[in-house]
Amino acid sequence: MSRNYPFETGVYRPPSEGGSASLLVRFTRNCPWNHCTFCTMYKGKKFNLRPLEEIKADINAMADLVADLQAESKALGHGGQVTRDAILALLGKAPGLNHHPGADMLIQWMAVGGKTAFIQDGNSMIMPPQDLIAALTHLKETFPSIERITTYARARTLAQRSLGDLKVIRAAGLDRLHLGLETGDDALLKQIKKGVTAQGHIEGGKKAMEAGFQVSEYWMPGLGGKEMTDQHAENTARVLSEVNPHYIRSRPFRPAHGTPMSDQVKQGRITLLDPREQLLELRRMIRALDVTSKVCFDHMGNYWRTASGDLVFHHEYEGYQFPDEKQMVLDRIELGLAFKQEPVRFLHM
Ligand code: SF4
Repeated sequence: MSRNYPFETGVYRPPSEGGSASLLVRFTRNCPWNHCTFCTMYKGKKFNLRPLEEIKADINAMADLVADLQAESKALGHGGQVTRDAILALLGKAPGLNHHPGADMLIQWMAVGGKTAFIQDGNSMIMPPQDLIAALTHLKETFPSIERITTYARARTLAQRSLGDLKVIRAAGLDRLHLGLETGDDALLKQIKKGVTAQGHIEGGKKAMEAGFQVSEYWMPGLGGKEMTDQHAENTARVLSEVNPHYIRSRPFRPAHGTPMSDQVKQGRITLLDPREQLLELRRMIRALDVTSKVCFDHMGNYWRTASGDLVFHHEYEGYQFPDEKQMVLDRIELGLAFKQEPVRFLHM
């Protein structure tokens, strides 16, 4: 055996996909928009649609690695299970795996049962629908253990797709879409160069819901600074209430070094919220939110604490079920407001 298992693995996936140790399968490279002024993810990298045959070849190379590891395990009497000895035996025959950027990810995915997959990179829905459907079909046929497939998508692309195409993509096995809403405020969307309006977010999100996807929307508390905090909170709640997605995930804004937004903060054009003001913005947004979604704070940026030292919000991926737990979230915010929060340090700005 002298295989080198040629498949690509991108860098980014949502935290919830790391928690479920998802298989990362790269259908496109980087982001076709790439203008958002807070984002560092794919900056300086060119977007590529990967040819269908190349994507299929990646999936086949992953399948080869899975089959070879299972064969080593069986030869050792381990019944095909992922064991340390089986991995060492495979590494002895394919030492290139020590430096393979995706091998750890694939073996970890096998070890936890191979149930979930995440399609990379930034907006898979930009693919020609027939290619996306064929790639999803090949993935599911190759790995029948997969029960859930998710990906990043832009609301604007979803709004441009026909409902019929979205339904066929959904039927081909794509279950969940992770959408970067960031804000529902038109002035702030323009300022951050999101390339979509509040109405576009509503149309894209609702269309995805109608097509049967699970929809996970990410918003950024603090994104508008002190200057736009009220309109950011109110309009984000308005848009999310209209879409009523399955998940709403909070990703508090922190300016990243080298981004236009970091420069705007340094120039005094955006005044960052202090921890108390962040909680006040969250309270305003949550109060106005009229949804049956799961509202999640599954990221370390949701750092606020209460006087007893525990986090204001737990970081579980399934979050708080609204409306049943809305009052609990509001009560937790009051506990956070009653405690003097440590100021946030922006080490990398
Ligand atoms: S669409 Fe997403 S990945 Fe692309 S630049 Fe904006 S935030 Fe970054």
